[in-house]
Amino acid sequence: MSLKLFNTMNHQKEEFKPRDSGKVAMYTCGPTVYNYVHVGNGRMLVVFDMIRRYLMYKGYDVTFVQNFTDVDDKIIKRGLEEGVDPLVLSQKYIEEYFKDARALHVLPATVHPKATEHIPEMLEIIQGLITKGLAYEVDGDVYFAVDKFPHYGKLSGRSLEDMQAGARVDVDDRKNNPMDFALWKKAKPGEPSWKSPWGEGRPGWHIECTAMSLKYLGAGFDIHGGGGDLVFPHHENEIAQSEGYLDGKPFVRYWMHNAFLTFNQQKMSKSLGNFFTVREVLEHFSGEVVRFYLLSTHYRSPLDFDDENLRMAQKGLERLQTSLRLANEALAKNSPVAVKVELNEELLKAAEKARQDFEAAMDDDFNSALAYASLFELGKTMNAHLQAYPFASTGLAKAREVLLELAGVLGFDLEHPESQDVEQDEKLAEIMEILLSVRLKARQKKDWEMADFIRDQLKDVGIVLEDTPQGARWTIKG
Ligand code: AMP
Ligand code: ZN
Repeated sequence: MSLKLFNTMNHQKEEFKPRDSGKVAMYTCGPTVYNYVHVGNGRMLVVFDMIRRYLMYKGYDVTFVQNFTDVDDKIIKRGLEEGVDPLVLSQKYIEEYFKDARALHVLPATVHPKATEHIPEMLEIIQGLITKGLAYEVDGDVYFAVDKFPHYGKLSGRSLEDMQAGARVDVDDRKNNPMDFALWKKAKPGEPSWKSPWGEGRPGWHIECTAMSLKYLGAGFDIHGGGGDLVFPHHENEIAQSEGYLDGKPFVRYWMHNAFLTFNQQKMSKSLGNFFTVREVLEHFSGEVVRFYLLSTHYRSPLDFDDENLRMAQKGLERLQTSLRLANEALAKNSPVAVKVELNEELLKAAEKARQDFEAAMDDDFNSALAYASLFELGKTMNAHLQAYPFASTGLAKAREVLLELAGVLGFDLEHPESQDVEQDEKLAEIMEILLSVRLKARQKKDWEMADFIRDQLKDVGIVLEDTPQGARWTIKG
């Protein structure tokens, strides 16, 4: 079946036809790194990771680029407040980003370009825009002239006149049109800056995405994504400067935007201060549960952040994990009697139907919420059969395999449930540290008997010790 996705540009679901057959080139606007990512950012990350994984499942070779905005007003302000070099601050939060992304089972992008490492590419585009008469310099700043781009407003569906009438834009004598936006900003004292033909300065926000997406994906790439707040002005401006620079050639084939994660029906955002960082939520729920929750609603519908829904997500994920575990246990047992043919057939059919339903849901603009239903249905059939016949069968093996595979496409690893009790995990780690230091002391006194006793007792409860040159390591075998 063909894949349909909602293209913000045309306000409708369209059949997905990539630029190059068998390949997908996609770009999303990543975080501005001056803080830990919040769960709203997490929604964007998880949604596009789900989209990317499904495209991979469909057999596409996906190149996925997600930038880091590592220099901008907010980063500079935060750096000044904390007395830290803004670029050191942004580097710290890039590292923290990767920890949160991993916890949410978000795969690393093919490339994670940083704005500060692409200044020459941005300068080249800005220079090109000036040469084409689409941008102009005023005393060290460079602006894009929106009225020189005839299609300005095509993504957000607004005309320049409406924008000017509706926007409370500061009157700025330096701009030809109040909607003109900065491509290059003259450096203020103490700010990070780079040399340019217009003097020391730094790039505006929008130009970085044009420079980095064109560099890694080329003109007319397939999918450009981000949260709905980016449609205007960020993506509108990206289109104007990119298509202006490309002499009218299309910049992007499909524009995709996720709806907001809200808190008390208001967009969760750093600037409003009504946010929870992913890190905070991970103190109470595993990353996999947070992911399950974030995909439990279609990506274009708003989702309100709420503890109760997180707990329901936890129950939902546990139900799937239980179906898989029960199947694993049954498959480990030899069948005492020949399996009933009908039972086996039914499971084989259920597995096939689950795959069909799953694909139909995902092919319809990545409806992960509906895709969950196909997994639950399969899990339910498996449980019912296991109650009647808790032994190995080819049908059960197939159903188990399909459940595991499809959950994996959505980024869940049902075979290895993450512990939900973070506090208990920490306690266990502390106790293990004490035990390992007792064992180390025993070894130092050449009390091999005690050292082996500790190792063997731990092994009996499923904790395996390994002695390495850096000390003993422990893992739970499950
Ligand atoms: P920022 O760090 O604010 O530039 O945001 C990084 C990404 O997260 C962008 O793609 C935003 O559109 C997206 N985003 C920010 N807030 C939310 C939210 N409350 N819900 C969903 N996506 C969001
Ligand atoms: Zn962007």
